[in-house]
Amino acid sequence: MDPSVVLRLRPGKEKRIRSGYPWVLRSELLQPKAAEPGCIAELRTAGGEFLAVGTYNSQARFPFRVLSLEPTPIDVEFIEGRLQRCLERRADLIKKQSAYRLVFAEADGLPGLIVGRYGPHLAVQVRTAGTERLRHLWQPVLCGLPGVKSLYERSEMEGRRDEGLEPYAGPISGETPEEVEVEESGIRHIVPITSGLKTGFYLDQRESRRRLGEQVRPGERVLDCFCYTGGFALSAARAGASVMGVDLNTQPLELAHRNAEANGLDVQWKLANAFEYLEHDAPSDGPFDWVVLDPPAIAKTSKGRDSLKWAVWKLVFHALPAIKPGGRLVACSCSYQVGMAELMEACTLAAADRGRPLVLEAVTFQDLDHPAPLGFPESLYLKCLWLRA
Ligand code: SAH
Repeated sequence: MDPSVVLRLRPGKEKRIRSGYPWVLRSELLQPKAAEPGCIAELRTAGGEFLAVGTYNSQARFPFRVLSLEPTPIDVEFIEGRLQRCLERRADLIKKQSAYRLVFAEADGLPGLIVGRYGPHLAVQVRTAGTERLRHLWQPVLCGLPGVKSLYERSEMEGRRDEGLEPYAGPISGETPEEVEVEESGIRHIVPITSGLKTGFYLDQRESRRRLGEQVRPGERVLDCFCYTGGFALSAARAGASVMGVDLNTQPLELAHRNAEANGLDVQWKLANAFEYLEHDAPSDGPFDWVVLDPPAIAKTSKGRDSLKWAVWKLVFHALPAIKPGGRLVACSCSYQVGMAELMEACTLAAADRGRPLVLEAVTFQDLDHPAPLGFPESLYLKCLWLRA
């Protein structure tokens, strides 16, 4: 391997890289260099010892991103090897599910690349200039995977601008239908690959949706706030619960409605702002045996942390009066910025302000197709507290 760009890391920062942390800040580089955005570069210690090979974009917030801790050429074999590892890590899941996250970016050793698989169709997100530049390598490998008929790009994230890329969405190869039907834990879901949020479906909540279906008893009343296309709601309805799903957006709610019909389930859907619904209508619509709160990630940076924690407090504070004594609350945070501690604190405060203590019964995380390397704490972004009121 002979990358033309060689970077040196400030002393004291090597350990983090060796433990699997994939990002290097500009301030951590000794004399950052000008180079083609996204080019392959080698990272060395201040003393000149090899540390990692990765992509380099001098303008980005994280100029260097690790591809490998081995001095290896970044070629088609490398990408094939990474894809193979992704498939092996998910082998058990793939046997049972037709929809899964095939590549989870840095956590799978492919920085900036997200791939969701929905049956024969792949939805791809490219977040960095480095991954953009490696497109000629990964794109043919993805297209060549057994059974893959189409590739569709959903790179609409504003974060791309930091990398000097414009947000983009559109077909890459083959024909992607607007809607693809997949099955999750025996429930049929229509996934709007080309128009839904993110890459169309929240695969990361699979395990928690399954758990809810397992825990709910027939006849119980369940409120699913931020229901999107009905993930938690359908799982509870299939367990025999009487379910209400609330979301602010029409398109996901229409799909939720069709999903319920396709599965022969009866769910009440409500187009509303969950904050307002909980405050004004939930107490009279309730009381519920279960309330699920799965809000979107409002805080992407540490600056938004307090407002998101405050939002969780508000949701829990207003949800509590609508929960039966002994009923359950599932409070989720999909933002790394609101971690376990912040999520617990927000719930504890809201419970105290209501005078209704909560007991923690379980914690669930993103499902296994979103690996969480310990050396990369940011990868563990989704956590759900299962609380009893
Ligand atoms: N629980 C879902 C995923 C939730 S994604 C699942 O398992 O699939 C977050 C959802 O919150 C999106 O569908 C978005 O439309 C919705 N949303 C965002 N702000 C909202 C608000 N203020 N009130 C209600 N829904 C909202």
